[in-house]
Amino acid sequence: MNNLQEAINNIRIIDGHEHIDMYEVRKERNIDFFKLIHYLESDMISAGMKRDILYGKSPLSDKEKAEHFLKYWDKTKNTTYALMIKDAMEGLYNMEDWSVKGLLALNEKVKAKTNDRSWFKEVLNDKSGIDLAFTLVQTTDVDFSLFRPILFLDFMFRLRGPADIEFIKKKSKMAIHSLKDYQAAVRVIIDNLVKDGMTASKLGHAYWRTLYSQKPTYHEAEQVFNRLKSGFINGGLSQQEAMTLQNFLIHYVIQCSISNDLPIQIHTGHQETSVSRNGNIITNSKVTNLIPILAEYPDGKFVLLHNGIPYHQEYLSIVKNFTNAYADFTWSYIISPTLAKQLLHQTIEMVPMSKIFGFGGDYNSVEGTYAHQKLARKIVGEVLTEKTEANIFSEQEAITFAKRIFRDNLIDFYKIEV
Ligand SMILES: [Zn+2]
Repeated sequence: MNNLQEAINNIRIIDGHEHIDMYEVRKERNIDFFKLIHYLESDMISAGMKRDILYGKSPLSDKEKAEHFLKYWDKTKNTTYALMIKDAMEGLYNMEDWSVKGLLALNEKVKAKTNDRSWFKEVLNDKSGIDLAFTLVQTTDVDFSLFRPILFLDFMFRLRGPADIEFIKKKSKMAIHSLKDYQAAVRVIIDNLVKDGMTASKLGHAYWRTLYSQKPTYHEAEQVFNRLKSGFINGGLSQQEAMTLQNFLIHYVIQCSISNDLPIQIHTGHQETSVSRNGNIITNSKVTNLIPILAEYPDGKFVLLHNGIPYHQEYLSIVKNFTNAYADFTWSYIISPTLAKQLLHQTIEMVPMSKIFGFGGDYNSVEGTYAHQKLARKIVGEVLTEKTEANIFSEQEAITFAKRIFRDNLIDFYKIEV
């Protein structure tokens, strides 16, 4: 291993984006090996596996699950999602025997760790070199010695029926009879979340509608709101009908985030089938759809997640030009290491280094994060080695760069104390 790679392997990472539930939730969900496979499940579904067959109320016994897993493992073991599971299981559980018998033994080991409170710290701090991870678990009640919370705020603008308004009413403990009341309630919820330690807002709407938001007037939004509020008989509006109100509220949530000096993470690009439960509509996630928002809010701090893949070339132009847009490599290395490598090369060529965030595992288990950070360090090492060979960076400059994107930039930008 060269010096540069070794230095990169020793960086204490600040992990910008995960979905890791706290210990209590993991325990309650009885997380075993089959529930750990996360992204690999998507590839298995893509290869023909029945959705949920390894999860929740699956009718299969553990032995049948293992047989099922192997059937689809055989079809998917080429993908990076599969390689990550393999690496995590071999690195953390000494897995060697990828047979039914081996999987059943592994399953017992995973279950034992689900009941071991020290496991998270061991995997994140000791084995992954991660000091702190931002996690999206819809609560600020997280272990602050390892995590910082980020919340999806889609529930504030994904309005389709009276129940969605009721939810905001309950959460804010405020009466809601008008759009003005609704806005006041949303503001109170955001202000309280910030007080409780929310580190950033997250907008995930590319999963369920276009990122493009027109800017309706208050009156236009109010008309939809009032229809929706009185829609208890027919049960709500279609997505098309609700769009105007949603657009208005997306602007409002952004405004509330900015007034709290809160960074805004936005999902751009590829959608995950295990999340959306279908193939989704990739064009909804086009990063160019965000240009009007970026132009309107120069004071916003917009973290554009996942490099906009497969719209990564437009993404690079946008992040290069807009002062308020930041490049974030969350998820990217495991979507395609080859693409991530090329993208990092281009990002170094195009984007100020103060605007690049190098790692977010995007996993819902610490095991996935462990494997992902290893891959990320390797790719960053390869790219920076090539950059030093091309005399773009000295070795010291390359190390400084890696430290910025894996750690220092996040500490400065999110204003966290470690
Ligand atoms: Zn995510």
